[in-house]
Amino acid sequence: MMMNTKANPISGKPSNSKLYTQENNPMSLNPDDYTDAKYHDPAHPFCIGCGKFASELEEFIDAAEANDMLSAEHYVRAEEGTYNRENGHFLCTPCYVKAGMPSGPRGWTAP
Ligand SMILES: [Zn+2]
Repeated sequence: MMMNTKANPISGKPSNSKLYTQENNPMSLNPDDYTDAKYHDPAHPFCIGCGKFASELEEFIDAAEANDMLSAEHYVRAEEGTYNRENGHFLCTPCYVKAGMPSGPRGWTAP
């Protein structure tokens, strides 16, 4: 009888990450690609939709300038409603729209 191993059918690697699940991952990023600590650092907000840091997204660079803030990262941490203070995840505007504009009784933050 064959042993039934629980390897990830897509990557072939065992899935030890519970960062996103099929249910809460709005953009179906492969969580195995985002296990590095730099993607879970509240000091460096990371859009889990497009896989970019706030500092790489023009939307937030411009907003920071318009609001006299030090950087796009400062802007996201202060103003972005989807920003998750625990892991630094958020969704930029296009990704939020693509995810179906999720909301909740106390707001919605990225998983
Ligand atoms: Zn994005």
